[in-house]
Amino acid sequence: MIDHAHTLETFRMWIDGKPVDALTGATFESQNPYTGRPWAVLADGGSDDVDAAVSAARAALDGEWGSTTGFTRAALLRRVGDLITANAERLARLEVNDSGKLYREMLGQMNGLGSWFHYYAGLADKIEGRQIPSPNPNYLVYTRREPIGVIAAITPWNSPLMLLTWKLAPALAAGCSFVIKPSEHAPASTVAFAELFDQAGFPPGVINVVTGSSARTGAALAGHPGVDKVAFTGATSTGRRVALAAAENLNPVTLELGGKSPHIVFPDADLPAAANGIISGIFAATGQTCMAGSRLIVHESVHDELIRLITDRAATIKLGDPNDPDTEMGPVANAPQYEKVLHYLRTAENEGATVAYGGTAEHSLGGYFVKPTVLTGVGPESAIVREEVFGPVLSAYTFSDENEAIEFANDTPFGLAGAVWTTDVHRAHRVAAKVRAGTVWINAYRTVAPSVPFGGYGQSGIGRENGAEAIDAYTETKAVWVELSGGTRDPFVLG
Ligand code: NDP
Repeated sequence: MIDHAHTLETFRMWIDGKPVDALTGATFESQNPYTGRPWAVLADGGSDDVDAAVSAARAALDGEWGSTTGFTRAALLRRVGDLITANAERLARLEVNDSGKLYREMLGQMNGLGSWFHYYAGLADKIEGRQIPSPNPNYLVYTRREPIGVIAAITPWNSPLMLLTWKLAPALAAGCSFVIKPSEHAPASTVAFAELFDQAGFPPGVINVVTGSSARTGAALAGHPGVDKVAFTGATSTGRRVALAAAENLNPVTLELGGKSPHIVFPDADLPAAANGIISGIFAATGQTCMAGSRLIVHESVHDELIRLITDRAATIKLGDPNDPDTEMGPVANAPQYEKVLHYLRTAENEGATVAYGGTAEHSLGGYFVKPTVLTGVGPESAIVREEVFGPVLSAYTFSDENEAIEFANDTPFGLAGAVWTTDVHRAHRVAAKVRAGTVWINAYRTVAPSVPFGGYGQSGIGRENGAEAIDAYTETKAVWVELSGGTRDPFVLG
């Protein structure tokens, strides 16, 4: 691991194809959650910097970028996909320093991001309008799919580049330009990422990044009148504020928000496989993913055996330096998040939960470590079952029949993801259809792909990212009517 005690790496914002300081000259530091020390210094951008970035993004649309064809954009997307792969190790290191996530996980993510850009490169030159039959033979009618315009992308600290890519790749294929505001807790990788688009040949102003140390920077961007759409990933409460700010401009939003995703485990399930999937859903990434499988709804007849399998594995999880290839769980990403997870552990204790494993911080390692935690005996009404912890905390409770399992699974304001564990093929599909969530895995968990839509029901969000339909989220449809007869018509009659 690099020791940053004496040297902080510097990251400037990226506006109009250039690295720039904040107009005020202000800076802030980003902390490494493993060492607990600052490791980077960044420009502390404010609303004036947001104005400059939005102007650059608009100018790009009005200039060269606005007249590119899908064929040109496809070539650029392919090139940037390759550059991301070539720079995967450096990008992964930056994300690890900022968020404390495992190097091996982040390297895997960075190596996968290129495939998102390649997938949408394949779609960029196939964004087609339609020729539509008109009831009046004197008209030729067709539609054009045009870029929505300037996109404000506001991203969180967990997997900043992957969650940004889910917005960028389809929107660039569609021809949009961007102002990106990464989280103050993990901003560095986004600035390094933006430079790769410049190297790939994207014109200046297509990608702009404003960093800032407070929620004010994001708020200035979400409500900016020069923006045409807001794409956000983060907490449900913040998503609501972002949507309200966007509504002031009547701007559309894509919101990827929180979750409280259930695993439903039936008595006929392959229990070791289920235990492994449940571990991956809640302890990988230290539970800090929107799709964390944080509720375990297990049939009463297999509860004890499954909990034993999960706790046995939890006890062997190796906590430690996120850069060490043997480490399985890193620290929680930042001080507020650490306090939040510990608060929920105290709440669960007060609610009468039984700690089957973990339940406390791990002080021996320094940094913000929390033990992988398995809670049993919680009621469906308890806060630990209803609220998003965003940490390595699994809450287990039992059901007695299929209908009750579905009822428990859907008894949540969220609806991002879930899993059904069973070897009965009829039941697998029957239950998957009834779980109100944007993604349901059957005998699996935590897989995503550029070609597969991802997003939430209810308070887990609005819209879908990924998949071919993500292009629709970044295009406007324009209908063009062409008069063919050359004659005149009654000006006072519609049609
Ligand atoms: P937030 O949802 O507050 O932050 C996400 C992004 O929104 C960041 O870039 C943040 O900037 C920005 N932001 C904050 N306030 C505003 C605002 N009013 N208008 C526009 N943008 C804003 O997440 P936090 O980092 O504060 O984490 C809080 C909780 O959110 C976590 O404990 C977790 O439960 C949940 N969360 C969920 C995620 C998910 O994927 N579902 C991802 C991250 C967090 P800045 O950081 O500079 O304030």
